[in-house]
Amino acid sequence: MKHLFAVLLLLGTACAQEQVAGATQISPDELAHLAPLYHAAAVSFVATDFQTEYSFTEQADGSFSKISSSNEHWHNRVTLYNNTVAIFHTHPKDCSPRPSQDDIDVAKKNHVLNYVLSIYALWVAEPDGTVEKVGNVEIKHGKVVIE
Ligand SMILES: [Zn+2]
Repeated sequence: MKHLFAVLLLLGTACAQEQVAGATQISPDELAHLAPLYHAAAVSFVATDFQTEYSFTEQADGSFSKISSSNEHWHNRVTLYNNTVAIFHTHPKDCSPRPSQDDIDVAKKNHVLNYVLSIYALWVAEPDGTVEKVGNVEIKHGKVVIE
């Protein structure tokens, strides 16, 4: 009996992981916070001489940090707290919209979701090393829409 129970448990876990892969969704609260991030980074999405990244973090209690930028070329310093569950950061025009290897390493090392917002897409690097596209990004009436 004990053996059977253990097998069922493993199958259950495998199932849950399959459902998560490819199905990352962001909450309405997170979506609302993406709009000011998108607007802060708007110039970097179109101008090649302005390659700054912007970011904010989400904490386990549902609070968000302010948007910050280190104003460094293609680099960004993000402050992570013990209860940080997600990072949202932007990739400028000449950068791939996908999470970089550094982004993936940050997600794995700190057990956080590391989202990458670029002009047309939202991607995420997950703590288990999975990288996936959350959706296409559009701006409608000043709001960010993920499709
Ligand atoms: Zn990045």
